[in-house]
Amino acid sequence: MAWASSFDAFFKNFKRESKIISEYDITLIMTYIEENKLQKAVSVIEKVLRDIESAPLHIAVTGETGAGKSTFINTLRGVGHEEKGAAPTGAIETTMKRTPYPHPKLPNVTIWDLPGIGTTNFTPQNYLTEMKFGEYDFFIIISATRFKENDAQLAKAIAQMGMNFYFVRTKIDSDLDNEQKFKPKSFNKEEVLKNIKDYCSNHLQESLDSEPPVFLVSNVDISKYDFPKLETKLLQDLPAHKRHVFSLSLQSLTEATINYKRDSLKQKVFLEAMKAGALATIPLGGMISDILENLDETFNLYRSYFGLDDASLENIAKDLNMSVDDFKVHLRFPHLFAEHNDESLEDKLFKYIKHISSVTGGPVAAVTYYRMAYYLQNLFLDTAANDAIALLNSKALFEKKVGPYISEPPEYWEA
Ligand code: GDP
Repeated sequence: MAWASSFDAFFKNFKRESKIISEYDITLIMTYIEENKLQKAVSVIEKVLRDIESAPLHIAVTGETGAGKSTFINTLRGVGHEEKGAAPTGAIETTMKRTPYPHPKLPNVTIWDLPGIGTTNFTPQNYLTEMKFGEYDFFIIISATRFKENDAQLAKAIAQMGMNFYFVRTKIDSDLDNEQKFKPKSFNKEEVLKNIKDYCSNHLQESLDSEPPVFLVSNVDISKYDFPKLETKLLQDLPAHKRHVFSLSLQSLTEATINYKRDSLKQKVFLEAMKAGALATIPLGGMISDILENLDETFNLYRSYFGLDDASLENIAKDLNMSVDDFKVHLRFPHLFAEHNDESLEDKLFKYIKHISSVTGGPVAAVTYYRMAYYLQNLFLDTAANDAIALLNSKALFEKKVGPYISEPPEYWEA
């Protein structure tokens, strides 16, 4: 059946780390479609969608005072250190209890601030029991400067419980700055990074059997060093149904992150369309205003996931000392429905419908609600993702232009 093969072909486009549905469920759905058991296929799709939407994600972050744990937590949540609800930075740890920090945009995501094991005097096993280790999806151990033996013992105990941990070495920016200041002649960035990574890996390896996952990051700029690698690794290791919410929660601004979000949302939109399409082919009729209302909300949600909502744009503009209008010329989404202002939204949508039917070859009346919604959601999604990438690139350009130093002396200096 054509349906089954298009289902398979669709999901083959996505890499393992961005797949939000398991191979098992894909096979199950395809088998039902092939056997013409559509209702069964739909129930599996519904279950998959429910799992994706409601999957809770609990991230445990631990580390000794001063290592940069609170800063890291705020960064993961995309919350400014001085904002309300931020984890207090620069504070001496006094509590022996864990503290939950919800993700501001995704209520299913909670980041737990665990006291450093050193402040508690617990053995690693007791510490894990006390911190309710079974409730987390994974652990992040934060460390800075000198390696702490406690951290290695904790990593070992986590691995023994059959759980994943990731060792994050922060403040890489200061290490590089210091090396450059004190050894300007022999300074080699790659070598400094390699030495720090080897130092952490070797210490960890003394307690562990396998290659330890070590990531060098700077909380000052999470798009640099190993932070993007950490995001990819976490996505790979998570079960498929948790990848959707995690990818949407990602805060680093890189093309890879934007693509994870786009891929994840595309799969969800596809599953929703499959579900609706298998159940009924409702003709579009008078539903245009319904579509508009629902899609308006969806579109605003996409803008916020991709950092294109008004508040985010204002922040970027402030950072770079520009006006929001200067950015908007680079972006497509503000003009998506605003090109000919004399035309009503419904007229514009009708044009899109005509366009779809010309692409798909059917008469206008045969364009169904689900196909229309699918088409428009993809259009929105691609527009938002492309805009986010354009903004990223133009931001890099602007930053270069207003950069703090000129690397090459201007030519006329020679004369
Ligand atoms: P915590 O005690 O582990 O929660 O550590 P904090 O998050 O409060 O950080 C301690 C200090 O280190 C603060 O002054 C932070 O601003 C600073 N800090 C944290 N992470 C980094 C980083 O990656 N780079 C630099 N340069 N400073 C950092």
